[in-house]
Amino acid sequence: MSNQAIPYGRQHITEEDIQVVIATLKSDYLTQGPKIKEFEDNFAAYVGARYAVAVSNGTAALHLCALALDVKAGDKVITTPITFAASANCVRYCGGEVVFGDIDPNTYLLDIASVKALLEASPKGTYKGIIPVDFAGRAVNLEEYKKLAKEYNLWIIEDACHAPGGFFIDSNGEKQFCGSGHYAELAIFSFHPVKHIASGEGGMITTNDETLYRKLLMLRTHGIVKDNDLYENTVAFAGGEEIYPLWYMEMQALGYNYRITDFQAALGNSQLKRANEGIAKRRQIADRYLAAFSDLPYIKGQSGSIEGHAYHLYILEVEDRLGLYNFLRTKDIFAQIHYIPCHLMPYYRQFGWKEGDRLQSEQYYKHCISLPMYPTLTEDEQHNVITAIKEYYK
Ligand SMILES: *Cc1c(COP(=O)(O)O)cnc(C)c1O
Repeated sequence: MSNQAIPYGRQHITEEDIQVVIATLKSDYLTQGPKIKEFEDNFAAYVGARYAVAVSNGTAALHLCALALDVKAGDKVITTPITFAASANCVRYCGGEVVFGDIDPNTYLLDIASVKALLEASPKGTYKGIIPVDFAGRAVNLEEYKKLAKEYNLWIIEDACHAPGGFFIDSNGEKQFCGSGHYAELAIFSFHPVKHIASGEGGMITTNDETLYRKLLMLRTHGIVKDNDLYENTVAFAGGEEIYPLWYMEMQALGYNYRITDFQAALGNSQLKRANEGIAKRRQIADRYLAAFSDLPYIKGQSGSIEGHAYHLYILEVEDRLGLYNFLRTKDIFAQIHYIPCHLMPYYRQFGWKEGDRLQSEQYYKHCISLPMYPTLTEDEQHNVITAIKEYYK
């Protein structure tokens, strides 16, 4: 038995992962090499999307999506308060306005009824887009959101950071994987070490829209294009005679350097091979938590045995959350809280958001706690977590 601390999430690096990274370090490319396209192609296939663009992190992915969709000053975009701040911040990077909906207290996902209420309360055209989040790994029903988006002429960015491999069942009875691009313009993922697939820092955008795909590729690398067919300046200006000289390239938009490195892509690629195995483990862990707590009255709203749930997080809602959190720490069990409602962050309060604005999210925040959930959590370790929680409430 080890006495290692138990965090809420942890990456799993195998010997094979290490060898793949070493091989890439010894290759000719540290960045912009062949591993990036390989990772993109494999990832697109994994989620069932046509295109994938690998980037430096999930936040950069969100920013590029907002840029590609032309978010501008004054544009209003709806998202959930129960998410990592980046889901909302990407709108602010472009000068847009974030409007928070509320969550459904049963699923913890952005409540479509709250979104409808916002849309109906303003003239059509007020809102430009919606950023739903597959929070904790539970897939948003994007088919429903797509209907709403059509009616109000909105785009959708699916923040799928918690849910590679997650899915929902649509009205035709078909599995719709998170990031498949079937019901959303764009989807984004993160490869931060606490997420399903770790590449150090890293992110991915998936889409089925070729125009957006081209735009994302350009914006990822400074807004530069290198393609004879796309140049705006003349051949003569470029210094050629009949054709553009080989050195020529153009910066056509204000892009960024949001590239991932080749060795990160190699690591992501290697991890992707074990992604399904990881989800199977996460589901086993979820089932054990569910069985352990299912008849305990102080625990509400727990997730368990939900089809298509990718279980990035396993969340309980408990009484005396602070007491439990501190007690677990004394046992070297580091639970975490996901999330402090975004609309109550000091940064967002400056726009007028205050307590009482989003009651379901605020109520949820008072009780939520994320238990250790990662593929290498052993049965013994999980047993210790369960025992400690039961001991606390005895
Ligand atoms: C992790 C995360 C992000 C940001 O990803 P980074 O790679 O850390 O920039 C965005 N949204 C959600 C929901 C996340 O969990």
